[in-house]
Amino acid sequence: MAVATPAAAAGAPAPPGAGLSLVQRALRKLGLVRDIDFALYLPMRYEDETRIVRLADTREGDLAQVEGVVTESEVAFRPRRQLLVNIDDGSDTCQLRFFNFYPSQQKQLEVGARVRVRGEVRGRFIGRTMMHPTVKAAGTSLPDALTPVYSTIAGLAQPVLRREVRSGLARAALDETVPESVGISIDAQEVWDLRRALSFLHYPTPDVAMATLEDRSHPAWQRIKAEELLAQQLSQLQARRERAAQQAPPLRSMTSATSLYAQLMAVLPFGLTGAQQRVGEEITRDLERSIPMHRLLQGDVGSGKTVVAALAAARCIDAGFQCALMAPTEILASQHFGKLVGWLDPLLAERGLRVAWLTGSQKKKERDVMSAAVESGEAALVIGTHAVISEKVRFRRLALAIIDEQHRFGVAQRLALRGKAVGHLEPHLLMMSATPIPRTLAMSYFADLDVSTLDELPPGRTPIVTKLVADHRRDEVVARIQAQLSQGRQVYWVCPLIEESEAVDLRNATETRDELADVLGQPVHVGLLHSRMSTPDKQAVMAAFTANQIQVLVSTTVIEVGVDVPNASLMVIEHAERFGLSQLHQLRGRVGRGAAASACVLLYAPNEAGRVGEAARARLKAMAETGDGFEIARRDLEIRGPGEFLGAKQSGAPLLRFADLETDALLLDWARDLAPRMLDQYPELAQKHVDRWLGTKAEYLKA
Ligand code: ADP
Ligand code: MG
Repeated sequence: MAVATPAAAAGAPAPPGAGLSLVQRALRKLGLVRDIDFALYLPMRYEDETRIVRLADTREGDLAQVEGVVTESEVAFRPRRQLLVNIDDGSDTCQLRFFNFYPSQQKQLEVGARVRVRGEVRGRFIGRTMMHPTVKAAGTSLPDALTPVYSTIAGLAQPVLRREVRSGLARAALDETVPESVGISIDAQEVWDLRRALSFLHYPTPDVAMATLEDRSHPAWQRIKAEELLAQQLSQLQARRERAAQQAPPLRSMTSATSLYAQLMAVLPFGLTGAQQRVGEEITRDLERSIPMHRLLQGDVGSGKTVVAALAAARCIDAGFQCALMAPTEILASQHFGKLVGWLDPLLAERGLRVAWLTGSQKKKERDVMSAAVESGEAALVIGTHAVISEKVRFRRLALAIIDEQHRFGVAQRLALRGKAVGHLEPHLLMMSATPIPRTLAMSYFADLDVSTLDELPPGRTPIVTKLVADHRRDEVVARIQAQLSQGRQVYWVCPLIEESEAVDLRNATETRDELADVLGQPVHVGLLHSRMSTPDKQAVMAAFTANQIQVLVSTTVIEVGVDVPNASLMVIEHAERFGLSQLHQLRGRVGRGAAASACVLLYAPNEAGRVGEAARARLKAMAETGDGFEIARRDLEIRGPGEFLGAKQSGAPLLRFADLETDALLLDWARDLAPRMLDQYPELAQKHVDRWLGTKAEYLKA
């Protein structure tokens, strides 16, 4: 397939790479396959080639296009080889300088030639110069629109891309999808139709107020952004409705004192917080319905999500079904396992049931035993890593799947979990996250989710004091550690993250452990936890730390999420400037889990230039200023932007390319309002709109 066939245009791309030219391959890398993809590939800036100006009227810094006669042309060798050309346009003169040039260019710039030159004017005092201007023959006709400049990649020259976009735009079917009767009326502005808006954004007229293109406030931009937000809302609403058409087993609540739920409540060593109760009821209501639950439980670190999950599991088991609980790492999974087993295993045993454990590193024999228990239904609760959803595991009657730290799971894994349906019955899905989603994101990217929020910490927590300490003051940190140890407390020390090499990470962590063991002396035990250790070894170290046989735990970031040792009261994070904000907050949440006053020390080291980068400084500042997970999330979004915040690559959700949730709040409201009406009244147009904007990516949203 050498050229784009109708099949490709209709959105059925050929297998990657097969028989494609280099240009097509490059275009594909930019996501440009269908005509509409080209039409929606908007310029990042423009060049004005519509006018010729007089040299005398140019000022330093102007990007100017002039026409003149070459009066001098020579190759000079000082300070290095360069082509020096003088031109005169009748009003004034200008020197052109080229460090890289071809004989053909030299010929084009022979004395006497009339040329059209475009470049930045420099040098006010020593006379005008242009470095490496573009040069054409003079006298050809001037374009009547600005020239688009598209973001491109190696192997795809700007003029080629320009030509491809132009023809894609010309071919694309741009009939309206927003029905007239539903109407686009945004903030009483004049609304442009789609073709006009796109044509204008690719080729604006030279009289346009450039600022309105740059800040995307121009009516053409408003139209495009409204369309994009509408596509997002429509696809999420479709996903929600598709789910509502599916069946899940309704899990009737049991209230008797002999129910697992009641018995679990009775053995809990604490009463539920108001927030836990409220959220528990929201989940219970969902579980009682025959529509699959699709709920996100968000709550700051330490807000007590695990208990809520355990109670939901108890509801599920009471109704005679199985529940799966997945965590992203074995350490975390084993913590859940430990805690839930402690609570639930005796209660399950009375019923002839058990908890099963499934991870990738498990021995085959053990795994076979566990899988058999899952298949027979004896394992009412199945806990583990993504091994839980491996193809070989067959549930007898799975009704509830709980995913902890959901943002660390990919779409594929979530889909696989749903594939564990029994017959035509989908499991209910509860996703938990310690990274709250700011409201604007929840309304756009997660519009298809129901969200429950634990906005209250269990009582008796003392706020964590966070200190920023420059790396050369490490001694003070050691004194702090000693002070905690003398009160019988325990300490975490998190080693820096060096992404290039796990081996270097390990060496650093080992050295730090040895150093700390040295300065702290007997009888303090300093333990080491790193990602290369085997799971049993990790578990042994964690168990020793939990039992206070280890007082100081040095680790790479494997303790990042969910680890729970209430006696630990100090967290030291080395090279804190290298960590992400959410990650720092998660790490900090490992302390302050008991009644003791806790502290977090963020050690930071300036770079060679003696500085900490701007984003890093913003992160450290946020950490020092607030302990509130929602505020942290808000600032994190501000620092990183939605793309990185959401981890788009992993989540697979198509990002907004044009709209900005903050500045386009009105357009978002419009789209939210219109989407349900459009789906009801004009389902075909709605589908066409989603296909046009999201193409094949729309599927991801349904995960
Ligand atoms: P996270 O939301 O970060 O997963 P956890 O579920 O690990 O939080 O809970 C943090 C700690 O608080 C655990 O030790 C847990 O047993 C305890 N906890 C949970 N709920 C309550 C409560 N209502 N009262 C007292 N302690 C609680
Ligand atoms: Mg947790």
